[in-house]
Amino acid sequence: MAVDSVTFSPLGPPACEKDAKALQFIEEMTRNADAVQERVLSEILSRNSDTEYLQRFGLGGATDRDSFKSKVPVVKYEDLQPEIQRIANGDRSKILCSHPISEFLTSSGTSAGERKLMPTIHEELDRRTLLYSLLMPVMNLYVPGLDKGKGLYFLFVKAEAKTPGGLVARPVLTSYYKSEHFKTRPYDPYNVYTSPNEAILCADSFQSMYSQMLCGLIMRHEVLRVGAVFASGLLRAIRFLQLNWRELAHDISTGTLNPRITDPSIKKCMSDILKPDPDLADFLTSECSGENWEGIIIRIWPNTKYLDVIVTGAMAQYIPTLDYYSNGLPKACTMYASSECYFGLNLKPMSDPSEVSYTIIPNMAYFEFMPHDPSSPPPSRDNPPRLVELADVEVGKEYELVITTYAGLCRYRVGDILQVTGFHNAAPQFRFVRRKNVLLSIDSDKTDEAELQNAVQNASVLLKEFNTSVVEYTSFADTKTIPGHYVIYWELLVKDSANSPSHEVLDRCCLAMEESLNSVYRQGRVADNSIGPLEIRVVKNGTFEELMDYAISRGASINQYKAPRCVNFTPIVELLDSRVVSVHFSPAPPQWAPERRR
Ligand code: AMP
Repeated sequence: MAVDSVTFSPLGPPACEKDAKALQFIEEMTRNADAVQERVLSEILSRNSDTEYLQRFGLGGATDRDSFKSKVPVVKYEDLQPEIQRIANGDRSKILCSHPISEFLTSSGTSAGERKLMPTIHEELDRRTLLYSLLMPVMNLYVPGLDKGKGLYFLFVKAEAKTPGGLVARPVLTSYYKSEHFKTRPYDPYNVYTSPNEAILCADSFQSMYSQMLCGLIMRHEVLRVGAVFASGLLRAIRFLQLNWRELAHDISTGTLNPRITDPSIKKCMSDILKPDPDLADFLTSECSGENWEGIIIRIWPNTKYLDVIVTGAMAQYIPTLDYYSNGLPKACTMYASSECYFGLNLKPMSDPSEVSYTIIPNMAYFEFMPHDPSSPPPSRDNPPRLVELADVEVGKEYELVITTYAGLCRYRVGDILQVTGFHNAAPQFRFVRRKNVLLSIDSDKTDEAELQNAVQNASVLLKEFNTSVVEYTSFADTKTIPGHYVIYWELLVKDSANSPSHEVLDRCCLAMEESLNSVYRQGRVADNSIGPLEIRVVKNGTFEELMDYAISRGASINQYKAPRCVNFTPIVELLDSRVVSVHFSPAPPQWAPERRR
């Protein structure tokens, strides 16, 4: 349906009346970014004025920015942990938020090895739904005809736990997919999925993936876009197809469902979808039985116009592999969000990943920006950070994102570093630079330097009885394998070569490292199968000295040189690989359970 010029949006001509409203909303929000931010802060402060947390800072009912900034401190998760623990233990008083905490969202960011617990309130679901509702109207500006087919999205729910006080703790997407907002969403011809809700909501990851893939194959000609939340998820789906296409083809050929699918609701809905189709089964067999998987996505789903996956930030490492499997289809990064808060969207979703900027939508929360300049001293009590308003950030500068949410986080440091690339109306647009302190990441896991150091230390205890120590180490996220895995290079000092550690001992060191890594990593290894076994590559003595020589030859200072704890520059990885004397893999998955260790 064409829309008349009255509803024309500066972003482009909307595809339908509903889109026109959404685009108009984006225009209003971005034109009035500063006023919206002022209103949001005032709303949050007035409704939460009787919380224990805000009372502590003596705001005296003030809801203006100056009072807020002068009295309320900028905090990290660890600063809020006592309050969060009380809520988790069942204290229902107004601690952080005047509205009841409905559940905890478990972030992929960790604290002391466990997922951070983000308190949320029921109405936040409306805000998330609102941001989702803006994505297709923007996409429709760039890709016409998406109402003529479906989206093949691999979406999953994950394990849930209960806190001691009885609140559910689960990832934000699990919470969203299980909500009525998602399950009973109104029909929208521009947003029809091949995956039935029953398949998405099945907690068994094999059954969920299998049935979603099966539906995607059956509806292959209708599929116009293929996606997952992150690039790693889509590659896992391709790997799943490589491993399971025979069983899938069998089901399609016979019209019967694999007996490994036992979930009654999936069985019921698949009985309507799955009919014998020997031609499709033959096609699948001919495409998948060969060695060549290049372009498999467009061979199987020939009408795919783009891949809908986030490939910014840590996910950029998957771009070459996605290009290989899709023959370089456009990759749309549509939104920027977290467990704490959904932030914004990409107003040019078809832009190249290197050009992607996200526009923060100013009614989602109150946003502040801490200038990020690695060369100046970090903020302290005597040197408090000067935070900048959303509307006042400067193009080209980098900032750390700080949020104040309706659910009760006040001046909370998210840990993301963003760079301003420009403005849409009065709202800035940001390139996601990186998450602070993340050394290694394969899927949603984030391992920092201290965690890696601790893991190496714990593993090297196994070497003691062999009078052997790890003299140097570095790491590398190997994403050439699917799933990707951590590679740790070790240079060993073996003091007694007659009693050096055996292959098996070094294998066990891999497992000891994994046992020491955080729960998101271990969940990826155990429950999600999104991370492969950790690998230790032992390198020849003197390798790290060569690494230093190499760095110095490229201008590093001898006095200040430290071995990098993570490498990704290809010549360095090649140098390390050329010095490998033995290779070891974790012989078993580490321990993981949905319940927290502490
Ligand atoms: P979580 O707390 O597990 O929901 O993870 C949220 C984090 O994922 C954010 O703070 C970012 O570091 C990262 N993230 C989310 N969306 C994007 C994006 N579009 N591009 C890059 N990183 C993202």
